[in-house]
Amino acid sequence: MNKVCEITVNVDEALSVNKYEVDEESAHIELAEDPDDEEFLKLVRVCPAALYKVDGDGKKSFDYAGCLECGTCRIACEGTIVKKWVNPGPTMGVEYRYG
Ligand code: SF4
Repeated sequence: MNKVCEITVNVDEALSVNKYEVDEESAHIELAEDPDDEEFLKLVRVCPAALYKVDGDGKKSFDYAGCLECGTCRIACEGTIVKKWVNPGPTMGVEYRYG
């Protein structure tokens, strides 16, 4: 009989130990001005940091602060609603910490 190892990970807790240096002068990700709803919902589903949001009134929002630089949104929607995706400048962006 195989043993199953169960580990519970609190994602919010894990992300909170990272440090972010946000470049207020230049966003490293920019979206189309009025992003298509279907495309935006893709990003809501795939962003591991939950930076793409739709509120109760259907208003879409995105804030690049807190970005993990994983590139998932770029893969999902570059060429549609992701108009710019570049790595943050030197010393900017996420600094991963491991506890
Ligand atoms: S690069 Fe990753 S973490 Fe950053 S906004 Fe895109 S999907 Fe979210």
